[in-house]
Amino acid sequence: MTISIHQYLCLSDNYGALVHDSTTGATACIDVPEAGPSLAALAERGWTLTDILITHHHSDHIQGVPEVKAKFPNAKIWGPAKDAGRIPFLDRQVNEGDTANVGSLRAKVIETPGHTLGHIAYHFEEDAVAFCGDTLFSLGCGRVFENSHAVMWSSLAKLAALPGETRIYCGHEYTAANGRFAVTIEPGNPVLKARIEEIAKLRAEGRPTVPTSIVAELAANPFLRVEEPVVQEAVGLRGAEPAAVFGELRTRKDRF
Ligand SMILES: [Zn+2]
Repeated sequence: MTISIHQYLCLSDNYGALVHDSTTGATACIDVPEAGPSLAALAERGWTLTDILITHHHSDHIQGVPEVKAKFPNAKIWGPAKDAGRIPFLDRQVNEGDTANVGSLRAKVIETPGHTLGHIAYHFEEDAVAFCGDTLFSLGCGRVFENSHAVMWSSLAKLAALPGETRIYCGHEYTAANGRFAVTIEPGNPVLKARIEEIAKLRAEGRPTVPTSIVAELAANPFLRVEEPVVQEAVGLRGAEPAAVFGELRTRKDRF
């Protein structure tokens, strides 16, 4: 394994992350919510930024890019071709199945529209790590701003199909709030209850609740469990299509 990952808090609840390849010394920022903490994280480790991997166009994911790029003018900026018009500084526009390279590390691009039209995730398949931006959160998912619920559901289903051990990095620390909603859907799920206790302990210690994993989310995240009869019954949609159950869950969470 040559990958090292350093996650750090930005703004109030955003996560930035550095991905470092010890074989070549290459280092990427995954989104740049804020320049200061990103530059501090790089300086702390003595890493030189070579790449910036952007998940989507929202300002709380890209607003730090110009300042960071000014300090590391050779850094290549990767991002979704489908949103190139809203992310004006891309050096490399990528689509589904393309590969973003960070030194010798390879990240496969997974298009995950829903939260935004062009949202993408980066899957470092050989390292069993994925950066999912604002598509999949621990015990939750992103708000559906720019596509239908059905489109968002198919994006989440793509992530849910990644190998179970895949470590999932999310764009925000939303897990405690997500847990408060999840338990209203599945109050009898013992895995969810245990996770909520773990979250309370981690947060009390000021520690992050992410990364999570696909296997952990499949067991406790209601948005990935729309095919479970207990979840369908909780929203009065026994036997309904997964996308319909997802849509009802997302609507309820929006109002929660
Ligand atoms: Zn967003």
